[in-house]
Amino acid sequence: MNVVVCAKQIPDPAAPQSLEASNNLNRSGKLILDEADTYGVEMALQLVDAAGSGEVTVVSMGSAADVAGLRNALAMGAAKAVIVSDDALRGADALTTAKVLAAAIGRLEPDLVLAATESSDGYTGTLPVQLAELLDLPSITFAKKVTVNGATISVERQTEAGYDEVSAPLPAVVTVTAGVVEPRYASFKGIMAAKSKPVEILSVADLGLSDVVAAGTGQEVTRVVAAEARQSGEKYVDDGDGAQKIVAFLESIKVI
Ligand SMILES: Cc1cc2nc3c(=O)[nH]c(=O)nc-3n(C[C@H](O)[C@H](O)[C@H](O)COP(=O)(O)OP(=O)(O)OC[C@H]3O[C@@H](n4cnc5c(N)ncnc54)[C@H](O)[C@@H]3O)c2cc1C
Repeated sequence: MNVVVCAKQIPDPAAPQSLEASNNLNRSGKLILDEADTYGVEMALQLVDAAGSGEVTVVSMGSAADVAGLRNALAMGAAKAVIVSDDALRGADALTTAKVLAAAIGRLEPDLVLAATESSDGYTGTLPVQLAELLDLPSITFAKKVTVNGATISVERQTEAGYDEVSAPLPAVVTVTAGVVEPRYASFKGIMAAKSKPVEILSVADLGLSDVVAAGTGQEVTRVVAAEARQSGEKYVDDGDGAQKIVAFLESIKVI
C-alpha cells in the first residue's frame, strides 16, 4: 500500500511571526512540520505496516530553503519526500496549492492520500477537498478512525453528535483529525536514516503548470488589521455574595 501524506512546513509558532511587504506570512525563518500533519504521517505509517508492504511519501508545497520539517517526517519513518518549490508560488491561495499538489501527487499514483483537516497557519480547511476534486477521487473528511480492507477504506467520521461510519473505494483522499493516532517520536536511528532519504525538489515547470501559475496564484492580501485587544472583564469581589453577583450578571446578559 502506497500512501501519500500532504505535509506543510510552517513558520515555527514558537518564534515571533512577521509579514512580508506583500502582507504574506514571512516564511524565511525556521520552518517546522505542521503539527497537524504529524497525525497524517503516523496514520500512514500504521496503515502501511498493517498492509505489510508499500511506503509513505510526504508531499509538500513551499520553500525548499529549509526542509527540516520534511526530514522530521522522514525520521518518523516516511520513505521519501517531494517538495514543489518555486518563487512563482509565493502567496498562492488554497486552490493554486491544490492544483500544484494534485500534479505532484498524480505522478505517484498512490492508493491513499492523507491530509489534516486544516493547517495551523492558513487553516482554510479547503485544500484537501479541492485536491480530491482535482484528482477525481472520493474524499472523506474528519476521520477519527481509519481502517483499510482490501480496496475499501472505512472511516469513523467525527460529527458534533458522535461519528458516522463512511466508506469509499481506494484510491481516496482522507483528512484526519488531531488525536486520531499518537504520533511516534523519531528515534535516533530514524533521525540518522532521514539524512540520506530522498527529498525531490520540483519546480512549477517540472509539473507542466507554468501556464496555470502564470494565470495568477489567486490572492493578494490588500490589508492586514490587527485583532482588537481583548477587553479585560469586569472583576467581582466575593464578599459572600459572589454567587448572587454572578447570577445577576448572567441575567443581565440574558443567558439565564
Ligand atoms: C494567515 C493566512 C491566511 C490565508 N487565507 C487564505 C484564504 O482565505 N484563502 C485561500 O485560498 N488561501 C489562504 N491562504 C493561503 C493558504 O494558506 C495556502 O494556499 C495553503 O497552502 C493552503 O491552504 P490552507 O493552509 O488554508 O489549507 P488547509 O485546507 O487548511 O490545509 C489542510 C491540510 O492540507 C495540507 N496542506 C495545506 N497546504 C499545504 C502545502 N502547502 N503543502 C502540503 N500540504 C498542504 C495539509 O495536510 C493541511 O493540514 C492563507 C494563508 C495564510 C498564512
